[in-house]
Order: sequence, then structure tokens, then C-alpha cells
Amino acid sequence: MLRQYELVDLVKSYDPNADEDALNRAYVFAMKKHGAQLRTSGDPYYSHPVEVAGILTKFKLDSTSIVAGLLHDTVEDTDTSVEEIRSLFGDQVAQIVDGLTKLAMIEQKSANNKQAENFRKLLLAMSEDIRVLLIKLADRLHNMRTLHYCAPEKRARIAKETLDIYAPLAERIGMQEVKTELEEIAFKELHKEAYESIQARLNFLREQGSNLVPKIISRLQKDMEENGVKAAVSGREKSPYSIWRKMQQKNASFEQLSDIMAFRIIVDDVASCYQALGIVHSKYHMVPRRFKDYISTPKPNGYKSIHTGVIGPENTRIEIQIRTQEMHEVAEKGVAAHWAYKQGEKVVGKNFRWIRELLEILDQASNPEEFLENTKLEMYNDQVFCFTPKGDLIGLPINSTPVDFAYAVHSSVGDTCVGAKINGEIRPLRTILQNGDQVEILTSKAQHPSTEWDRFVVTGKAKAAIRRYVRAHKRDQFITLGQQLLERTFKGENLDFNEKALVNVLPNFEAESIDDIYAKVGEGLVTAWDVMKAIYPAYKQSKLGKVVKSFKVPGFGKSPRKDRSKAEPLKIKGLIPGMAVHFAGCCHPLPGDRIVGIVTTGKGVAIHTIDCKLLEKFADEPERWLDISWGDAADEGPHVGRLKVMLANEPGALGDLSNLIARNNGNINNLNIVNRTVSYFELLVDVEVKDLKHLTDIIAALKASKVVSYVSRSNQ
Ligand code: MN
Repeated sequence: MLRQYELVDLVKSYDPNADEDALNRAYVFAMKKHGAQLRTSGDPYYSHPVEVAGILTKFKLDSTSIVAGLLHDTVEDTDTSVEEIRSLFGDQVAQIVDGLTKLAMIEQKSANNKQAENFRKLLLAMSEDIRVLLIKLADRLHNMRTLHYCAPEKRARIAKETLDIYAPLAERIGMQEVKTELEEIAFKELHKEAYESIQARLNFLREQGSNLVPKIISRLQKDMEENGVKAAVSGREKSPYSIWRKMQQKNASFEQLSDIMAFRIIVDDVASCYQALGIVHSKYHMVPRRFKDYISTPKPNGYKSIHTGVIGPENTRIEIQIRTQEMHEVAEKGVAAHWAYKQGEKVVGKNFRWIRELLEILDQASNPEEFLENTKLEMYNDQVFCFTPKGDLIGLPINSTPVDFAYAVHSSVGDTCVGAKINGEIRPLRTILQNGDQVEILTSKAQHPSTEWDRFVVTGKAKAAIRRYVRAHKRDQFITLGQQLLERTFKGENLDFNEKALVNVLPNFEAESIDDIYAKVGEGLVTAWDVMKAIYPAYKQSKLGKVVKSFKVPGFGKSPRKDRSKAEPLKIKGLIPGMAVHFAGCCHPLPGDRIVGIVTTGKGVAIHTIDCKLLEKFADEPERWLDISWGDAADEGPHVGRLKVMLANEPGALGDLSNLIARNNGNINNLNIVNRTVSYFELLVDVEVKDLKHLTDIIAALKASKVVSYVSRSNQ
């Protein structure tokens, strides 16, 4: 284990201005806090953070990172608080340690390795400070190096997680060295036999081939020198894991894999890269489809190099990578190399793609500390990742809500969602989800998508599903209504109604099906009379005037398209079939009221209560009066009754009023303040009720309330 002064010396060797005092204090703090805790290896626990700090010095990170590395497990594993760290080591260290602690908690939440890709993104999105990610990787690297001390059943899980999540993450930020080491250890753990047989085969080839690698290196080196290119050639056998992966990909046996050796030519500048490539290709046969130019087109993680495959010296198939020293550093150390480069006042190439933004900060920052401080990972900050109760991870656009989440799980979950528990608590459906939230969707078969949702959902899937449902649902309603209107109109005129007749007039209404016509009539785009006239052009319209669209079927909207064959008659006796009917807005008739029908011009029959003041206007026109009454069948309503209420002008009075009405099964559908004084509100309240008795009950309940000083049914 690194001793205290050794660690400090290491940091000072590349950063003479390092905060020696903070390093010393952090070392001692970690040692004290972890105290007698032991690793499974039997080592004192604090050897782990010390080794992690040691790995971080290999990336040449600033002293803030090293300090945070030393402290990275204190909050999670000891009684230390983030506040304590803040007061002793400052904001930055505290923030990084806090970030690492949160990552550790998220790690425990994720039960499912199938979602490695989303989990990697979550880690990236949560590692706002790039140092969080670098320390996390160093932490994992040390845990992998000491994996053999763990219990066997734990090992496989950790190794798999490393292969699924951390090795690709290291690759994503360009840290090739870390990636390779993580993969090798995990591979050895997970596929011991494959690892050993590949290793054995490599040993055999090495003995057989009388050590080809050095021979080929010196041949290539000479080729470069003879052509005047300054180059450093190195070579190695490929790692067992990369050989194994190639075997999997190509479904090949080890014997069939010919290029198990890889060589690297490192030159001074980009021009020399292409020169070196020219030399290789002119001297050796190229293997088709193995050439890749990542200098002109770098990989998304910023990797640059030229790759080619040739039948090389000794007549062996080999892979050659050609790159500059800078490209090499970036390939091996990734994002950390940028920092190291800046320290040497060398600014690396600006084509590093996703890191370009980071580099801009790097260029503007006056010192490396500032660079790392301002380096926020901008990756995936347009996304948010949330867990299902089973630990599956769902990735969504930023500002997504539980409804978006529900639709992302399955459209049937979205369609029936009624509520959501976020991290165990019931929250509104419009709540904006945060990274790492655990979301449980509550569903009910009775629920349908709501147009309300359309105002806050952000995913296309949710929006499309909601609109599709609403459209289909409305159309169903229009079809039902249109058919009823047509049947009534025809019967009223004693004409035969059949769907065959409708087929003949489809083109008249630009309709493609009979349902189209029903829908148009139901929606009021076409009147029932228009349809009748199309079928019987010679028929003379009845004297009662045009049938218009404002026709209300009781219960309409509740059960679309039940059984269209037996359209229910309106539950009012004495009406002329086919006439449009509506309840007058002046007196709001309810079942139980004595009613009268008035034939209006152009609006069908208006139903009034017998005592409505408006009826005086029609006193001289008896031909307009229809003698009607409520039918015997129970009418489901709802009907709207209007109340006039005087309410105390005090806090909570309106709430009390609406609660009282709701508790009596009434539903307020409109509320108007007509007058307001210091002590009273005068309100008109429209309430949906079953019938007159229901309204009377509500009035009685309101009269008993202390906030209501006066209430009556309103007939104006
Ligand atoms: Mn750790």
C-alpha cells in the first residue's frame, strides 16, 4: 500500500503546485474514519481508498481529485457526513464525494444487467463533474484487481457488471488502458476455461513461432527507417479477451484466427501517419476490408488512429495501428490525457468530438483546476433515467412525467394509468421525473387516456396514444348519435330507413362508409335532412323545419356505441320523433319537474319547466306548445340544475361548498360569482344531478351549512 509521503510525492511529481496539506489531511482522515474496518482480503479498509488515489495519480489528476479519491467511501461506509467533508475539504471535494455516494446508491437499485446501456447513460448523466466518473472507474479498477478475495458467488456478478457497464464506460470516455484491464480481469473470472485455453494456445504459438513479435517489430522498424520516417514500433499479442470476442463475433475457432498479433507504429505528426501507411501497403499485401482511417473520421469517443491488416513479415497476418504520440496518449488515457496535456501547455487536437465542448473550456480556463471544475459532462443531460419497481431502467427525454413513463413501459399501462408512486410516494401525474427516480404506475381498467395529459406529456409515444384514443372515442360517439338522428328523422316522416339506401348516397357526402355518414351527421357537419333529401330527392320537407344537430341523447358520452340496432327513445313522452331537443338554459328542467316543450325556429324543441318566466313570450302562439312529460324509465342523467347561493366571504367557504355538494354526489359543472361584498359572495352554481329530488337534497344539505346563508333553485 502507498504510504502517505509516497502518495504526496507522486502527485507533486507531475503537479508541483498540489495542495500538500489537503492530501495529508485526507489521507489521515480516511485512515481514521475507516478505522478498524477490514477488506475481504484482510487488509485494513483504508488501503482501498489509498490505492484508488494511487490509480488516479496515473491519470495525473489534480489534488482535488486525489483528495476526493481518498475520501470516496467515507460517506457511504462510515458515519461521515457530506457537511463534515465540506467544512474540512471545501465545496468541490464535498460535491464529488456526494456524487460518488449517490452513484453507489443508484448501483444498488439497479437489479437488472440487461439494461447496461441505459445504466451507463445514467452514470454519465449523474456524473456532472467528470472527476466523479474518473474516480468511479479507478474505484472499480481497484475492486477488480482485488476481486479474487471476494466470495465466489459475488465475483461473477461483479465481473459481469464490469463487462456490461464499466469497461464500455471507460471506452466511452476513451480510457483504453482501464478498459482493457477491466475486461481482462472480468473475462478471466467469467470464462475461466476459455481464458486458460486461449492462454495455452498463445503459449504454444509463441514456442512454435520462435518468438515472432520481436522479429516483426524490427522488420517494420527497418522499413520505416529505410524510407526516412521516424517511428517507434511496438507489438504485442492481442489480449485473450479481445481474441475471445473476435472468436464470438466471427464464430471462428482459435486456429482460424490468424491475426493474433497487433503492432503499433507511433510517429511524429499526422503527415507521417499516412507516409507510414504508404510504406506498409507498398511492402505487404493488404488484407481486404481491414483498413480503417479513424484520423479523418474519429470514433465518437475521440479515438484517432489508422488501422490496417496486412500479410506482414514472416508471412503472417498482422494488424497494424498507426498514430501520433498525442493520439496514442488520448487513446490510452482518454479524457484524463487532455488534462495532462494542458499541464504541459500542449493543447491536443480539436477534433475530439463529444469532448469538444470540454476542450473549449480547457482552452479558456487559465489553469487545470479551473478546467476540471468547469467540466460538466454534457452527455445525456437531455435525458432522464428512471427505475421500474423491478429495477428495470427506462430512458426518457428530459421533463418526462409518469404518464410518459407509463407509455414507455407499455401502451396498455399508459392507457389505464390513474396515478403514480415516485420513490414510494403518491405524486401527481404531471410531476417531472428526476434521474434515478423509482416509478410505480397505478392502473385501473376503468381509466382512459385523457386530453388533460396532452398538456404535459413530452414523449411522442404518449402524445400519439392519447390523440389516437380521443379521436377514436369521439368518432364512436358521433357515429352512435348520427345513426339515432337519422333513424328518428326517417321514422318521423314515415319513410323507410335502411342502410342500403345510404350506400347509394355515399359520394354525395364524400363518405367512404355508412359509419362516415353517421359520424358526419353526429358531428353536425351534415344534417339528417340533407341525407334524407339525398335519398328521396322528391320528398318535401315537413313543416316543422330543419332538423339540426343540437340533439341530446340522455347518457350520451357515457357509453359510446353500445347497441346501435336498438337506439333508445328519448325518455320524454309526447315529443315528435326526429325533432332536435334541448333543455332550456333558463330554467334547467330536471326529472321530477313539470315540463313543457316549445317548438323553436331552427333549434328544435326546447324543454322548459312549467313555471319558467320565458314561457310568457309564447303565450300567443299555442301551436308551438307541446304537451310533454318525463318518461317512466329511470333516467340516468346527468341533468344540470342551477342554484343561487349566498356564501360567507371567508377563507375556505368555497371549498366547504364544493365539498358539501360532492359529498351529496353532485358534480359542479359551472360556477359564477355574480356579486361580491365584504361579507358575502352571491353565486350561481350549476350542479349535475340525477333529478329534482337529488337537487332538493343538495339544497337541504347546503341550508344546514354555516357558510351558506341562503340557497335556492334558480330559474332565471
Ligand atoms: Mn470504493
